[in-house]
Amino acid sequence: LEPEEFRRQAHLVVDFIADYYSNIEKYPVCSQVEPGYLTKSMPKSAPLKPEPIETILQDVQKHIIPGITHWQSPGFFGYFQTNASTGNFLGEMLLTGFNTVGFNWLASPAATELEMIVTEWILDLLQLPKSFSFSSNGGGVIHGSTCESFVCTLIAAREKKLKQYGAERGDLCKLVVYCSDQTHFSLQKACQVVGISPNNVRSIQTKKSANFQLSPDALLTAIESDVRAGLIPLYLCLTLGTTPTTAVDPLLILSEIAQRYHIWTHVDAAYAGSACICPEFRHFLDGVEGATSFSFNPHKWFLTTLDCCCLWVKDQTDLTNALSNDPELLKNKASDTKQVVDYKNWQIALSRRFRAMKLWMVLRSYGVIGLQQVIRKHVKLAQRLEAQLSADSNFEVVVPRNFATVCFRVSPLMALTTGSTNEDDLANHLTRTLLESLNETGLVYMTHAVMEGIYVIRVAIGATLTDDKHVNMLWDMIQDHASGLLAKYAE
Ligand code: PLP
Repeated sequence: LEPEEFRRQAHLVVDFIADYYSNIEKYPVCSQVEPGYLTKSMPKSAPLKPEPIETILQDVQKHIIPGITHWQSPGFFGYFQTNASTGNFLGEMLLTGFNTVGFNWLASPAATELEMIVTEWILDLLQLPKSFSFSSNGGGVIHGSTCESFVCTLIAAREKKLKQYGAERGDLCKLVVYCSDQTHFSLQKACQVVGISPNNVRSIQTKKSANFQLSPDALLTAIESDVRAGLIPLYLCLTLGTTPTTAVDPLLILSEIAQRYHIWTHVDAAYAGSACICPEFRHFLDGVEGATSFSFNPHKWFLTTLDCCCLWVKDQTDLTNALSNDPELLKNKASDTKQVVDYKNWQIALSRRFRAMKLWMVLRSYGVIGLQQVIRKHVKLAQRLEAQLSADSNFEVVVPRNFATVCFRVSPLMALTTGSTNEDDLANHLTRTLLESLNETGLVYMTHAVMEGIYVIRVAIGATLTDDKHVNMLWDMIQDHASGLLAKYAE
């Protein structure tokens, strides 16, 4: 790495990215290439000789960009966004520039200490209980994903429970995990990884009439039935902002039930945790004091790019008892004192990125006020879209909006006017067709969810560049496409 040549090439790449952002609205939001498109245009083997950056960037423009789904486009309303920012990019550049591998404190003291500092800052911002702080016996860590946080907390809960019961590994088959049918599907995979039988994952059914929240009665019934059957309740996953509809489970009452049965309660706030830095959304976190662990993804709605998931635990020894190793190769005086955090013992992998650098840059570049403004801007846009949809008899807002995601469908009543006898089936069909036709324009991209057999379009507003004009355009398009569709079916 020759510094002056690095400077020259890096400037070209920065210019390339800046131009990409200037032109982003010219690209179809969701890539329109066919499977295998890239294999056809790429050489069969790696180049033997070095190639100039100019040629490589030309190929990025010609071959890679067509195959990109532009998550940073202001017309991106799919899944949940991962919103980028200048502060984050610069942080990514620095952390890649240093390219440290901070598995323990000594391997990069700044990486460890900055991670402790930013997780404490965010703990304060979210007004999480002090029991999650390093100043008690808790603490925060940055993982790559919520899935990783699920795996680590499940392992911690498993080891603690088996020890508590003096149980053998064979008793693994008795451990039971509770969640709702709205919980993110990665919990199921995490359970598989950790050795929890799929038969022992209670995915408790939720109802539209209860806004898809996990019901305390249903949870209690499931736990009691398992206890009677000689099984061991292990772990409860509650969600603040579910993926299909952004439902919020009633944390207080559910975590109280879990405490009665010594169940580890994890609160997954992957998407909506960010909103809780605004005082007007903080009430959604009420009851989090009953949780054993809590996680949220700055890489969704906190101006931070992948990958970045913050996890806090009340008792750090739960993690370190389950995930520590102490190989000779890594022995050092600082670790021996037990006065430092060695983050390798809080995660699965040994090596770890200096993710705190980008989060610190984001927090410093925008400040709490800047981050709150971003959340409020998106929520306001979603509020307006929700009001427009509610006022139009062609549509039904399927669940009340909590944050900046709106779930709607073609109104089953309008579907009836087309002469159909099964309004829900036809509403599903029309809503799916509407989504396809909107996405085909390439101007916007949304995704769907199905709950209780109801097919809904999810509009997740949260890309950094999304503004009034983009949501206005979306609303115009929704109305146009829906009236065309309904007119066609009424013929
Ligand atoms: N939990 C919720 C509520 C989510 O919405 C998502 C992803 O959208 C996840 C978990 C998975 O997050 P990750 O990709 O960081 O594992």
